[in-house]
Amino acid sequence: METSGLGNKMLVAGPCSAESREQVMQTAQAIAANYPNAIFRAGVWKPRTRPGSFEGVGEEALEWLQEVRATTGMKVITEAASTKQLESCLRAGLDAIWIGARTTVNPFLVQELADALKGTSITVMVKNPIHPDISLWRGAIERIQESVNSDIIAVHRGFHSFETYEFRNHPRWQVHFEMKSYFPDLKMICDISHIAGARPLLQSVAQEALDLGYDGWMIETHIHPDAALSDAQQQITPTRLHELIQNLEPRLPSPIDAMSIAQLKNWRDEIDRLNDELLVLLKERLHYSNLIGELKKEKNVSIFQPERWKTILDEMNRRGMDLNINDGFIRNLFIQIHDESVRIQAEIINREEKKVL
Ligand code: PEP
Ligand code: MN
Repeated sequence: METSGLGNKMLVAGPCSAESREQVMQTAQAIAANYPNAIFRAGVWKPRTRPGSFEGVGEEALEWLQEVRATTGMKVITEAASTKQLESCLRAGLDAIWIGARTTVNPFLVQELADALKGTSITVMVKNPIHPDISLWRGAIERIQESVNSDIIAVHRGFHSFETYEFRNHPRWQVHFEMKSYFPDLKMICDISHIAGARPLLQSVAQEALDLGYDGWMIETHIHPDAALSDAQQQITPTRLHELIQNLEPRLPSPIDAMSIAQLKNWRDEIDRLNDELLVLLKERLHYSNLIGELKKEKNVSIFQPERWKTILDEMNRRGMDLNINDGFIRNLFIQIHDESVRIQAEIINREEKKVL
């Protein structure tokens, strides 16, 4: 990756929270030395899970952000979680605000913010909601789009998961493709800090985001990360930030030699053909679900037979292992197929019950 800049990628960097004027200014100056085009972030009001921990310094920090912009030329952004906070940001003339994960979950709040944004041109970054409900994220973006014409950027910060997992927030990378299918022109950046939750994981998450074609990164950066008042374990120094960006391996959007282009085309044609065959097979399988549904209704048999389902799942797992296909993938695939079979059969039973009535 070139060191003079980020190519066409966006970098949002700065501490989790603005803690003091010195901390903000020193961090900003060190970031700007390598990335003058970065957007400087710092949380002014911090949404914490429980009261009693550091909740941000509030309004006063907006002046520090103004000073960052005046002295480094970087654009500045903070989180606004209420109309009152948004109005303070607008008065302070910030370049951008972000809507946090705890706000995106709440359409009432998002609508209030969208209304308060009317008539402004401030850039709005929208983080994904805490839990993996894409429609909330989509809805929040649509509400902002309906209110303002300004730039909107989606920020993928991962999702809470009950499973123990190496990341603080599960990335569920497929949401990237899903969001792109709803908003093909939407810029989307990856908040690697809140996904990783720990310094050693940051590099690989940043690389994954680059490989998947994200438009940039949000990276929590603090002049003294170990002393940070929030999210200390995931913040890095501006020096480490620079190393991380330099260590990224650039990827080409597509191969450039004729042989590989032809090969890729061939394989993609095969995939298209197989996708089509998969659909035809699924259709055939669903046909039998329909027939079974009718029979179960007629003979008054319950839709769901746990032993039968367990046998299918075990058998498919075993077959999957023979074929060297990832077992988690097989499991998820068959859960989806089975859900659809159950839905079809329930529909048949309900339809016939209505007739009886
Ligand atoms: C943050 O960026 O510091 C933050 C609180 O983010 P999120 O809303 O993603 O938890
Ligand atoms: Mn944080």
